[in-house]
Amino acid sequence: MPLTISPQSQSHQPGIEKVMKPLAVHIRPDYRGSGKLTNRKALITGGDSGIGRSAALHFAREGADVAIIYLEEHEDAQETVRPIKNEGRKAIAIPGDVASSTFCNEAVKQTVEALGGLDIVVNNAGVQYVSEDLTDITDEVWQHHMDVNINGYFYITRAALPHLKKGATIISTSSINAFSGNKSLVAYTTTKAAEMGFTRALALQLADKGIRVNAVAPGPVWTPLQPASWGPVDPQAVAELGSDTPMGRCGEPAELGPAYVYLASEDSSFMTGQTLHVNGGKIING
Ligand code: NAD
Ligand code: MG
Repeated sequence: MPLTISPQSQSHQPGIEKVMKPLAVHIRPDYRGSGKLTNRKALITGGDSGIGRSAALHFAREGADVAIIYLEEHEDAQETVRPIKNEGRKAIAIPGDVASSTFCNEAVKQTVEALGGLDIVVNNAGVQYVSEDLTDITDEVWQHHMDVNINGYFYITRAALPHLKKGATIISTSSINAFSGNKSLVAYTTTKAAEMGFTRALALQLADKGIRVNAVAPGPVWTPLQPASWGPVDPQAVAELGSDTPMGRCGEPAELGPAYVYLASEDSSFMTGQTLHVNGGKIING
């Protein structure tokens, strides 16, 4: 799925899908579901766009009902809800801030009521702010990374756990940066590594309950996060996204969704505490 990306920028996070040039692809038109998630109930944070939308559309095609949480991108959220309903599945979109434990508790409650249960939790909502120098990172920017990327994963998971039964799965979207580091994203990299620790420790805690916890560590993927984080600093860097991977390109969101299907489904029944590296060929240790 090679992409030609124009230099571009979006002024603030979260970014939005419809002004991306080119538009991203979230599921291959020829992706066939085979009932791997029939009647499962999924909650995906940041499910309105990008990687979260891809997971949502793949889950629905595999037979799941899906709730998405998003911050404020109402149009993107509805563009995700529509194709899920077209698959004949239930879909709800819940706007709010995952940095608030009160909101996370409410959102999980709303999901369980609307879908009739919860089997799959995808912690995926995230922010990243570029800074070339650690001394330029303000307390507020540092804290915001921690609030959304770490606390959000904890609050949603804590609220979800009482509803999860044997066979349930939890998936964290981490990042290649947790493994390789990124000199321009120290705060973000810190949170993505914390998510790996969270994933591994929780996997051990829940193993004997039959609840599996795994992570996906994407490389560069064409999502609104890219023009909204790198764009204001360097629009040309957006155009060159992924050129440093062995495949020489970034991924489409559609290339991520199937990894979430695998981790959410019975296909990965002997895997917990592990990470799938969907990154264009970078060899990762750990
Ligand atoms: P995206 O902008 O489509 O998704 C991020 C989502 O997070 C947004 O849709 C937004 O609704 C949500 N969000 C942000 N702040 C929030 C808040 N306070 N409360 C609730 N929701 C909030 O971009 P994406 O790239 O698909 O990002 C999804 C995940 O993938 C993130 O965790 C990101 O770190 C990770 N990731 C992305 C890439 C990439 O190259 N795009 C690479 C590695 C990891
Ligand atoms: Mg979005």
